[in-house]
Amino acid sequence: MKLYKIKKSNIDKKGRGLYATKDIKEGIRIIDYIGKIITKKQTEETEKFDNAKPIYLFNLNKKYDMDGDVSWNPARLINHSCTNNCDYNGTGLKLWVIAIKDIKKGEEITADYGFGYDEDYKQFPCKCRSKKCCGYIVRSESRWRINKKFSIGQQKLNK
Ligand SMILES: [Zn+2]
Repeated sequence: MKLYKIKKSNIDKKGRGLYATKDIKEGIRIIDYIGKIITKKQTEETEKFDNAKPIYLFNLNKKYDMDGDVSWNPARLINHSCTNNCDYNGTGLKLWVIAIKDIKKGEEITADYGFGYDEDYKQFPCKCRSKKCCGYIVRSESRWRINKKFSIGQQKLNK
């Protein structure tokens, strides 16, 4: 039995998400993240990675990226959350999604898209509705730049 099922997402109202089909313990590999392996040169030359944030594009190594925007990659449906319960992990040319905390049956599986903080961040509002939501899809290390709520944590980090 798969650890996930696809259904309408609570985060992305227009889209779908992955949901846990049973309780999942921290550290469990939930799903492989698969896609087309392309060279950095192809990434540079492909228009679709030009303007839009490369949500589905992963840096594998100096030479290759993975484009996960393919219909046969259900992991592409995982939504971003400011209190994500999963993370992307990988080695070599393989990627997967791993639970970073215990997940209850029926919970939506979420990850941190890891977007950097730049002038475009307002294009990507976050609708995860968690108490710690900073309002935008930005990687956790950069959220303090948007919302002062997070600055205390950041100061601690800098010490
Ligand atoms: Zn959020």
